[in-house]
Amino acid sequence: MPVKRADKTPMPVREAQARAHDFKEVNAGYTASQAAFESERCLRCQDPVCVDGCPVSVPIPEFIHAVATGDMAGAARMLRSSNPLPAICGRVCPQETQCEAECSMTLRFNPVAIGHLERYVADWERTQPPSVEAKITRKEKVAVIGAGPSGLVCAGELARRGYAVTIYEALHAAGGVLRYGIPEFRLPKAILDWEIGILKAMGVEIVCNVIIGRTLTLDDLFERHGYAAVFIGTGAGLPQFLGIPGENLNGVYSANEFLTRINLMRAYEFPDADTPVRVGKRVAVIGAGNTAMDAVRTSLRMGAEEAMIVYRRSEKEMGARVEEYHHAIEEGVKLHWLTNPLEILDDGSGWVGGLKCQKMKLGEPDASGRARPIPISGSEFVLPVDNVILAIGTTPNPLLTRTTEGLLTNKKGCLVADEQTGLTSKPLVFAGGDAVTGAATVILAAGAGKRAAQAIDEALVART
Ligand SMILES: Cc1cc2nc3c(=O)[nH]c(=O)nc-3n(C[C@H](O)[C@H](O)[C@H](O)COP(=O)(O)OP(=O)(O)OC[C@H]3O[C@@H](n4cnc5c(N)ncnc54)[C@H](O)[C@@H]3O)c2cc1C
Repeated sequence: MPVKRADKTPMPVREAQARAHDFKEVNAGYTASQAAFESERCLRCQDPVCVDGCPVSVPIPEFIHAVATGDMAGAARMLRSSNPLPAICGRVCPQETQCEAECSMTLRFNPVAIGHLERYVADWERTQPPSVEAKITRKEKVAVIGAGPSGLVCAGELARRGYAVTIYEALHAAGGVLRYGIPEFRLPKAILDWEIGILKAMGVEIVCNVIIGRTLTLDDLFERHGYAAVFIGTGAGLPQFLGIPGENLNGVYSANEFLTRINLMRAYEFPDADTPVRVGKRVAVIGAGNTAMDAVRTSLRMGAEEAMIVYRRSEKEMGARVEEYHHAIEEGVKLHWLTNPLEILDDGSGWVGGLKCQKMKLGEPDASGRARPIPISGSEFVLPVDNVILAIGTTPNPLLTRTTEGLLTNKKGCLVADEQTGLTSKPLVFAGGDAVTGAATVILAAGAGKRAAQAIDEALVART
């Protein structure tokens, strides 16, 4: 069937049954003719409301127009001027709730595929020789804690402004969730490595295996190491648990541990890699956000015969990106909506033998604004599973705040920081990303890192 102008140009994808058993990227990316065709769908509105939907205000109609006219270098420049991680955001941003939700085409047909075009331009940019160099023009040096998107973007922006920047990262590799959480089949690590390579070429130093709050304190960074300002981008990596019986059984994982073992520690190459992960025939993942979809699809790739989502609300309340959800269904993931886990059952030898659940119905909205799930009495049943993976949310790790005097947090354990500048309760200490907002998105973390870099620059310039 010919593709109509009203329809989005579909993203070419690998066949579901083939891709569900390996870690190669699912989406293949637009060809030049698909990108040209899709870019012509943009109406170039006088009032580009799509830009309002983008947390970092990418000049969307302008970069799409540049694609349409074949000015790829111009398109890449425009994108990068507002979004320092375009190849990553083009792959993982929830465009359907951001820029594409606002696109004028949405009212009549389907929105322009802004994310797919962003990815196309950024992938083109990666085929070009990078044109960056280290230029330190300021005498002050700045430390960044955490090498996730907020920290990487903050560091890059400060380096561009002439500062010597060192990122301290707790893990042995940089990238944060982009490295240890989001799987290779959604975000190839070569793309992350390319972005990190650009930062290093700009003079940013990345020191891994250093936990601030353990190896060094935050105050040491000022007092012993002479940094003039610090940015905290430590994320929200502490998994939450349900508090139901059986959570300590063998075969229960937090999604963070499960994905970290596989993505960062390469458990899929065990025994060639040192870290194992035991995945049984049937895997239940509790939750329905991006983390849950990544965990359930990864389970299939690790050999599970049956992988399922168990979620106490309905499809409508799920937090995952629509594309990941559709891909999960195509790959054979089963969905248990309105299903609440009550107990993880022991198989008699200390391993998971099943998941006792209860059916739910939806009531009035709760404090989160979503319909409240209400238990249906007498509806209990058991799902026979070998693994249970919990993907019900994360909070910031309290290690840094507990070891730093004067750093205020709110009741959710998130750092208190000015929304615009990221300034915390401690002078010359700034923060952004999930550590401040709680678990959110890559683009929000990147935007916070960028704004904080500007505020750090202004604060240091004002002192000279
Ligand atoms: C599995 C998964 C899938 C996701 N999918 C998407 C998606 O599709 N789209 C999307 O937009 N968002 C997605 N998200 C959310 C997104 O990845 C996060 O919002 C984003 O990474 C937050 O960036 P950050 O820089 O604040 O923190 P992080 O990415 O968490 O990085 C924080 C870094 O700080 C380091 N660190 C922590 N404490 C210390 C310390 N004391 N000393 C030194 N280093 C420290 C950590 O090791 C980590 O590397 C996903 C999240 C997960 C977990």
